[in-house]
Amino acid sequence: MDIRNQSLEAIILKARGYREQDQLLTVVSVENGPESVLARGARKAESPLRSVCQPYSRACLLLTPAKGGLRFLAEGSPRESYILPESSLSAFAYAAYLAELLLAAWPPQKPAPELYYLAQAAFSLLKLDEDHARTARFFELRLLASLGWLPPADALRSCSCCGQAPAGRRFRLSPQQGALLCEACSQGDGAPLISAGAALSLHRLLTLPLPRIPAIRLRGAVADELEQALEYYLRYHLEYAAKAKRLLASLLA
Ligand SMILES: [Zn+2]
Repeated sequence: MDIRNQSLEAIILKARGYREQDQLLTVVSVENGPESVLARGARKAESPLRSVCQPYSRACLLLTPAKGGLRFLAEGSPRESYILPESSLSAFAYAAYLAELLLAAWPPQKPAPELYYLAQAAFSLLKLDEDHARTARFFELRLLASLGWLPPADALRSCSCCGQAPAGRRFRLSPQQGALLCEACSQGDGAPLISAGAALSLHRLLTLPLPRIPAIRLRGAVADELEQALEYYLRYHLEYAAKAKRLLASLLA
């Protein structure tokens, strides 16, 4: 057993009061994946740990070896806040949704650098892009891709069965088939129908570099279609996704 302290960069996803003066954090890091960390005394006004116990932020942490299954935060320094005091309620609600979905998909204490960098990208986008729903779609799609549940991006350019390109047609993103299929090739499939425009947006959300994501137009019907298609797809693979979505709806209500 390693008895040394470990220094790492982490994203703080949750912080809740524990005993009288402590904070119990849920953090993710490249090295350890998701884990719980106890910040003793962090609720005291003068605690130096207080500033690193902010949910939806990135910080450098020094963690003690585990005692009784839990590690303690020895020191920490904040790096970046994804949510600012002036952020809207919508930004908070979507940050909570990203955190819930990430933790539902990522088993505790399983290192997965790809998921860490995806979380970092999604939280950065949430801060930059006022269309929080677009950030959610970006995150959902790329999470599914990282977990290997989505067909390759190239397979989203046309029907996987007959090869028809999107123009003028309707499609289904089928989790059962793990494929994008045109309406004719997906009769009887329960996945919601999406327009050609929504199918093209799927491909763009999945493939464009981060700085270009805010330029993807997702409005009106296309935004609704993508939301429903991804909700259906996620729910098929991740039972908890539905609960995360209900949480988001209740926060936005
Ligand atoms: Zn087809």
